[in-house]
Amino acid sequence: MIEVTLLGTGSPIPDADRAGPSTLVRAGTQTFLVDCGRGVLQRLTAAGSSAAALSALLLTHLHSDHIADLGDVIITRWIGTFSPDPAPLQIIGPPGTAEVVEATLKAFAHDIGYRIAHHADITGPPAVQVHEHTEGQVWEHDGVRILVGPTDHRPVTPTIGFRVEHDGASVVLAGDTVPCAGLDALAAGAGALVHTVIRTDLVAQMPVQRIRDICDYHSSVEQAADTAARAGVGILILTHYVPALVHGQEEDWRSRAAAHFGRQIELGDDLHRVEVHPGVCASGITPAG
Ligand SMILES: [Zn+2]
Ligand SMILES: [Zn+2]
Repeated sequence: MIEVTLLGTGSPIPDADRAGPSTLVRAGTQTFLVDCGRGVLQRLTAAGSSAAALSALLLTHLHSDHIADLGDVIITRWIGTFSPDPAPLQIIGPPGTAEVVEATLKAFAHDIGYRIAHHADITGPPAVQVHEHTEGQVWEHDGVRILVGPTDHRPVTPTIGFRVEHDGASVVLAGDTVPCAGLDALAAGAGALVHTVIRTDLVAQMPVQRIRDICDYHSSVEQAADTAARAGVGILILTHYVPALVHGQEEDWRSRAAAHFGRQIELGDDLHRVEVHPGVCASGITPAG
């Protein structure tokens, strides 16, 4: 079984009730954080995990809303790990990730210096290992395999999705993307697809061009559902709602997806949790390998 928890279902627009984009994936004894938007560590704590407990941080792309709390994740893991030789934080992301991590460490250089000077048992800066990928297998440990595939969020490029597999269960995390062949291949036959969505019908009516611009490079609810149907996934999990999902309107969002995808659809608030069991995908489709 793989457990998916929507840590942050918000967007770049600050919301009193929704943290920035971030999803927690637990597979066996391993814990993966996918993107790290605003407020992620508060939600991670609420989900019973912590920065120190992460097996890896997976980044779909380098848009600010998806990496807003990268510094918090790195520094909090560093000062919150008390073993003498802490394992480096593994960060897997698209090309450009190493530069962003390096710049983040530089931004916190004063803090890092203060803590090394103050605590005898902290002898070096945060241990981080960055891996940049656009496709292929990127992780294989203790029965958990992670694959990466290219997505299409242009002009943001490159962007990637992740497929986490464990014990017959599989979850694909699309990040921000329009429908594309790369995501179709990655998601084929998966147990669940976690997809960011916008309500194009609402956003297209907003009076500000800068807001309407976002329709260019995101999937609508209907497009995400089409992708899920084409890939034959078992569960579609919607997140990163633009505009924010208002309580009482859940069924409106759900019905728009249900018109295109006839299986299980999940959406909700931060900390919404979904269990993905082996064999929930539509039969007859071979997972992307
Ligand atoms: Zn984005
Ligand atoms: Zn986004």
